[in-house]
Amino acid sequence: MITRKINNTNRSKCTGCFACASVCPIDCIEMISDNEGFWYPAVNESCIECGKCIDVCHIFKNEKVDNHPIAYACKNTDEEIRSESSSGGVFYELAAYMLSQKGVVFGAGYNANFEVVHTYVENIADLKRFQRSKYVQSKIGNTFKQAKKFLLSGRNVLFSGTPCQIAGLKSFLGKPYDSLTCVDFICHGVPSPLVWKKYIEYQEKRSKSRTQKVDFRVKDEGWRRFSVRFIFENHTKYQQTLLKDLYMNVFLSDICLRPSCYHCDFKTLHRQSDITLADFWGVQFICPEIDDNKGTSLVFVNSKSGIEIFDSIMSALIHKEVEINLSVKYNPSAIRSSSPHPDRAKFLVKILNTPFNVVAKEYCMENVGFKKKVSLLIYSFLDIFCVKKFIEGKSLKISG
Ligand SMILES: Cc1cc2nc3c(=O)[nH]c(=O)nc-3n(C[C@H](O)[C@H](O)[C@H](O)COP(=O)(O)OP(=O)(O)OC[C@H]3O[C@@H](n4cnc5c(N)ncnc54)[C@H](O)[C@@H]3O)c2cc1C
Repeated sequence: MITRKINNTNRSKCTGCFACASVCPIDCIEMISDNEGFWYPAVNESCIECGKCIDVCHIFKNEKVDNHPIAYACKNTDEEIRSESSSGGVFYELAAYMLSQKGVVFGAGYNANFEVVHTYVENIADLKRFQRSKYVQSKIGNTFKQAKKFLLSGRNVLFSGTPCQIAGLKSFLGKPYDSLTCVDFICHGVPSPLVWKKYIEYQEKRSKSRTQKVDFRVKDEGWRRFSVRFIFENHTKYQQTLLKDLYMNVFLSDICLRPSCYHCDFKTLHRQSDITLADFWGVQFICPEIDDNKGTSLVFVNSKSGIEIFDSIMSALIHKEVEINLSVKYNPSAIRSSSPHPDRAKFLVKILNTPFNVVAKEYCMENVGFKKKVSLLIYSFLDIFCVKKFIEGKSLKISG
């Protein structure tokens, strides 16, 4: 029975991509948050057993891509665009090109409550909304259906998202569209929207004000040692580097990623997207002539339409081709899932009724011993540690 199959979806496999809810012809699948804050499908009794939800679910598929991606180190020649982007500002250039072709761009931005949601933009002035990574799972909502509508009306569409979201979109669409460009990224894993909400509540309580703006990837202290910044309505500001910010410590401790992220089916160099973006961690060792610690993107060009769009934006980028296996030497998230923190379950229960800072410090900060603190300082001085922590997805609670 379909209802039972979807309602009992394997929680460690379901990526919450919304493909099943989007394809349902009678809208009888609702995506509901569980007590960890992640969305899962729930089918109601009006189900007509058509089976479309099962057909689009990647859990029941085993799609392998056989392509020959080409890897590049890239940075935008426009310094302002680069400083407003997580790494080299390649996403902005792809999206701006698509908009110049009268296309529509889908991506992840904040809503009025600073939840991370997928939406679309049709004007270049609105692109800012999607720039910079938001380290929380983005809610797809009805954007798959919107993208399909645009494609059917003959518009070009660029859809950006996690590899599992792109797989979900493609599965939902069911057939290739020449006018669709998919952009994914090397993904460490997506943290719980509930934990993110708790962090915002903590920040707003601390500053006695509502959030006006938030950015995860501020480069004031360099790209490798990026900062999280909040600007509040009462004009106060919070800014802390990834090493000290509590939320970044929680994220990089792998204590609240979506269960499917711990054995992600999309860890491969052979991607379903046309273009893959990433931080080029280790660029200072691999292409030191490009590195300036202001952000370099690693770009995989995966398909024929990826080549076409990349050719169209190349003149706006400083770029260099890199051997693909070498390019991910310092970015194991490309091919390896993060390992769950041993206290993940306890953390996610305790966060429900305990202030964010207390739980974050207890599980993700407290156990850094003196010796390790010293090596942490030395490493961060060398500017390598931040990169290592981020790309290896290891806990800051270093053992041994
Ligand atoms: C949760 C997460 C984990 C990541 N893990 C890694 C990693 O392990 N290694 C690595 O090299 N890079 C990782 N990245 C990618 C990296 O941070 C940059 O997105 C990439 O370098 C592109 O940068 P850019 O300067 O070209 O563009 P940017 O301007 O930074 O582009 C932002 C793009 O990311 C999309 N985006 C932002 N937040 C989300 C979200 N929550 N869900 C879906 N899409 C989102 C936007 O829609 C836009 O398309 C991760 C990104 C996210 C969101």
